[in-house]
Amino acid sequence: MSDEVKMAKSELLHNYGVRRTRVRSAVFELFGSSDFALSPAEIIAELGGEYDRVTVYRTLSLFLEKGLIHTAYTAPEGNFYALCDLQRCDVSVHHHDHLHFRCHSCGKVYCLESATFTPLQLPEGFSAESMLHLATGICNQCQKSEG
Ligand SMILES: [Zn+2]
Ligand SMILES: [Zn+2]
Ligand SMILES: [Zn+2]
Repeated sequence: MSDEVKMAKSELLHNYGVRRTRVRSAVFELFGSSDFALSPAEIIAELGGEYDRVTVYRTLSLFLEKGLIHTAYTAPEGNFYALCDLQRCDVSVHHHDHLHFRCHSCGKVYCLESATFTPLQLPEGFSAESMLHLATGICNQCQKSEG
């Protein structure tokens, strides 16, 4: 997250109609400083157990509802969430068609903005409004440590 975004952070929550509380600021900050998607369990652990499950879940569902974060990966053990493109997403519409990548070695989930796709070719009569891209494999960090 750039310094500019960091500075505007308090403004941002406000712009998204989210009243600032300590837990909301803490969770939002965590998303901003993370290179990968976060699960509720990770968030609770990262915050040092200061906030309980219910509080964290409530904060996440508020952020989801307001268009601050999106679901990056759905797993039986809990979803992973990542920060939205705050210039483009809001409460009514999400604009991202980036790839979500789940590493089966470390379990991390990444939003890969720079992965590219060939344009989608749909049969006649179909028009897509959103796409879900998911890949699984080995992430660059794990490749490094293996090689
Ligand atoms: Zn979004
Ligand atoms: Zn990995
Ligand atoms: Zn994403």
